[in-house]
Amino acid sequence: MAKIKICLDAGHYSKYNQSPVVPEYYESDMAWKLHLKLKKYLEEYGIEVITTRTKQKKDMKLTARGKAAKGCDLFMSIHSNAATKESVDYPVAFVPIDGSADALGEQLAKCIEQTMGTKQSGRSMSRKSEKGNWDYYSVINGAISVGVPGIILEHSFHTNIKAAKWLLVDSNLDKIARAEAEVIARYFKTIKEPVKIELPELILGSEGEAVKTLQLLLIGKGYSCGSTGADGKFGNNTSNALKSYQKDNKLVVDACCGLKSWASLLGIKII
Ligand SMILES: [Zn+2]
Repeated sequence: MAKIKICLDAGHYSKYNQSPVVPEYYESDMAWKLHLKLKKYLEEYGIEVITTRTKQKKDMKLTARGKAAKGCDLFMSIHSNAATKESVDYPVAFVPIDGSADALGEQLAKCIEQTMGTKQSGRSMSRKSEKGNWDYYSVINGAISVGVPGIILEHSFHTNIKAAKWLLVDSNLDKIARAEAEVIARYFKTIKEPVKIELPELILGSEGEAVKTLQLLLIGKGYSCGSTGADGKFGNNTSNALKSYQKDNKLVVDACCGLKSWASLLGIKII
């Protein structure tokens, strides 16, 4: 599978959008910190990450930021929202009207809701321009114009005291960056699930895939399992092959393939 590539955008530059209820909070500061943490955690999942701005102070046009995602699998702009009412407290993922990021947007909004413990539930929504059949948000338009699904991710509202205070804490940003990276990695299937193998005890009369594996290992080491080869049936020929192998390798000669015989055949140590 080709490497997944994501473009992250810190929503605003310099000192921008001060919280009216928690004066230490600036949306631009939070977005800058969070997008760098997110970059780090996404990279740990083997995802390639580029960012729109090289410095927090750098201003960039909205459409240009979206277009910077050319060649990526996703564009994501990091924000916190503002409302006139202090009580408003929920995450939103603004997704393109073409539906290309609906599922991921929904999952990210729910992830923020759970991590931040917002009062109202997370949601994804899209907004069509009043002027035509395109997205209202220019960053999303920019990304869509280069064929990339774009998401504006609002980390609830900095007009809410609890949310703004939460977002000011560095360890909280770390927590949310980890959680979002995991959602994205699962969505793009870059999380490697551990491989499980079963090594059941096999005796004369056993049948199935594990017997076939045993036979292949014995045959591969020069112990013939008879004319039927690796047929998945533990008969007399397999039993004799196993006994010869056990004898040659100083194992208990019992014609039973247990943990010690498996470990020896596979060349692994039992811990
Ligand atoms: Zn914003």
